[in-house]
Amino acid sequence: MSQFNHPPLVQPALSREIAPGVLVIPDQHIDLVPNIGIVIGTDAVLVVDCGMGRENGQQVLHKAMEVAAGKRLLLTTTHFHPEHAFGAQPFKGYATILTNTTQADEMQEKGAFFLTLFRDMGPDVHKALEGVELVMPDETYQGEKTIDLGGKQVVLRELPGHTRGDQIVFLPHEQVLFTGDLVENRLFPIFPDQDASVGQWSEALAQMIRLSPQMVIPGHGELGTVELLQEFQDHLLFARQEVSHRVKEGQALERIDQEGSQIIKERYREWGNDRWIPLEIHSMYSEITGEPLILPAF
Ligand SMILES: [Zn+2]
Repeated sequence: MSQFNHPPLVQPALSREIAPGVLVIPDQHIDLVPNIGIVIGTDAVLVVDCGMGRENGQQVLHKAMEVAAGKRLLLTTTHFHPEHAFGAQPFKGYATILTNTTQADEMQEKGAFFLTLFRDMGPDVHKALEGVELVMPDETYQGEKTIDLGGKQVVLRELPGHTRGDQIVFLPHEQVLFTGDLVENRLFPIFPDQDASVGQWSEALAQMIRLSPQMVIPGHGELGTVELLQEFQDHLLFARQEVSHRVKEGQALERIDQEGSQIIKERYREWGNDRWIPLEIHSMYSEITGEPLILPAF
């Protein structure tokens, strides 16, 4: 399979400070590499997402230990998907791994399936996932949790939509928001998950918009501002409306898939990852009609 543009390697050497004490390792526009955050307090350092596989996880851990210089380390993940959370293994024993309970349950329930699914995505992904074992968090919370890293407050909030257990990471003082895959910049929303819910996703975006962040770090793509949240919200509403009015007209899924995909693609010509559009349409169709979701291959 040649659908991915580059081996999925995180490059911590490219990290940059986007706000005082907040580093981002950018995704370099590489498929299956997420934007990764490192938040530095006076007492502790928090890593947000760890990349996919042991090698990437090791690289991110190394960078975090370097900036932590002996301070306590924590790792959290925005959701359980492989490129965000399957690099956690090297952190075990070196960092306290913390997520929301729903995300931990989801990892337990669906992690092995996603490992197999991703290993079949071609040799680069297979290699990145070599020897990966699923890692469960050391601590969990429900709803919301505020952590004090020492002069740096971080709010973890459970906010489902893209999966059942997404969480956002918000720094209220710096007005910095890590969204995970609830937001992508100029990339179509990623819908490989049976538990993605457009209704919840839209509500999650509304909640994030109310936070008025000055800086938004999406799961993938360039950093943005609150406008990025609005743009992504508009896209979801546009696509859902497109599917919904076709359902009301009694169109079959195949036709909606074909014609709807075309219209969405044309409206968002400059967006990448159009391989996800059919999955987006199928997910929306299932949610609107109540019919079981059968995800097409991607
Ligand atoms: Zn994801």
